[in-house]
Amino acid sequence: MRSCEILSVGTELLLGEIVDTNAPFLSRELAALGIPVLYRGTVGDNAQRLGEEVRRALRRSDFVILTGGLGPTADDLTKEVCAAQMGFSLVRDDRALAQIRDFFARRGSEMPASNLKQADVPDGGTVFYNAHGTAPGMAMERDGKCLILLPGPPHEMQAMFRESVLPFLAAKDMGVIASHTVRTMGIGESALAEQVSDLLEGSNPTVAPYAKMGEALLRVTARAQTDADAQALMQPVLAEIRNRLQPYIYGIDTDSIQQAVVYALAEKKLHIATAESCTAGYIAGRIAQVPGASAVFDWGVVTYANTVKQNLLGVQAQTLKTYGAVSAETAREMAAGALERSGADIAVAVTGVAGPGGTEQKPAGLSYIGVADRRGVEVTRFETGRDDREYNRNVTASRALYLAWRRIQNIGEDK
Ligand code: AMP
Ligand code: MG
Repeated sequence: MRSCEILSVGTELLLGEIVDTNAPFLSRELAALGIPVLYRGTVGDNAQRLGEEVRRALRRSDFVILTGGLGPTADDLTKEVCAAQMGFSLVRDDRALAQIRDFFARRGSEMPASNLKQADVPDGGTVFYNAHGTAPGMAMERDGKCLILLPGPPHEMQAMFRESVLPFLAAKDMGVIASHTVRTMGIGESALAEQVSDLLEGSNPTVAPYAKMGEALLRVTARAQTDADAQALMQPVLAEIRNRLQPYIYGIDTDSIQQAVVYALAEKKLHIATAESCTAGYIAGRIAQVPGASAVFDWGVVTYANTVKQNLLGVQAQTLKTYGAVSAETAREMAAGALERSGADIAVAVTGVAGPGGTEQKPAGLSYIGVADRRGVEVTRFETGRDDREYNRNVTASRALYLAWRRIQNIGEDK
């Protein structure tokens, strides 16, 4: 398995004047190709330090992709430094020169003399001609190591990567990397990690937990010569994870909890209704993000004010007065009202404190989520633990969708 690292070159990056978008782009592209990126670095336009970084990268990685420092000015040194490291001399390339002249001609100007040096390429290297700017890219290979140099401007770099570097890499035997993402909810990242702690120590496949917007995920990744081999390595580990975390897993490689909900409803030919207070449409909006949602969703209301909770959902004035809008009792009546008035098979209702602020009894992030179906209503108290309005609305919507999903799983099973 060949490994790769990425080096972003430019003093403006170190100064924070420009945000490095090239490295993440390359990381994503290489991951999609199945090429492991093991390091990423940033270095300024300085010959000595750049030389040191290139030497270090070449010691530990088979491929090094550099972006930046291919411009016409004196501070652009990437090509010169890399050629010196790899023992290549630079020669003028007529086709590159013609392309640079043409680039200026099309803009109605003469090529400045300083751009001449952009037409110099490593003798015996590979040239990636630039149809979108002036600097050509290039690759230099020696002793099983390869340096790939790309221009800094993102639109030029991206086009060159897709048009020239992808075919260049595809011709090399890089093996494959494949992965699956196990998505869970209702369990924290550290509790999740504890349940699979022995699996986290494996090296092929690797299992890595991470948290994202109130969800805990496990990424299982395997490397092998072919995709089939990689899948075979992952199968027993995925089976073990399923076995240990069954109640929390709502999907493997599923896009989102809303997708899991819509697919589960469609499969059972059920309809869902929503009644939202603090999330104010986020649950409905998330359901509607999934293509095909109209087959399972036709009724949703935002009942922000108490009077609307009473009028649209039939929540009792007495309930609101006794327990408050943010209470298990109100959530219960909201869910029951939504189920009855919509005629749906399942209804989910949320009432809570989005924040900022809140009180000691009812802090920001507290919500009550009611899920109703023909068998009755179940209310869950949920706390995000954060005083962040957007986060709370999003994560509460996710949790409500998850609780609905769990309920959908056993609808029909007890008939
Ligand atoms: P260059 O002349 O090849 O050093 O790059 C020219 C310009 O490309 C810079 O001034 C930036 O605007 C842009 N650029 C260079 N490196 C990056 C990077 N890593 N991410 C985003 N933009 C970059
Ligand atoms: Mg530069």
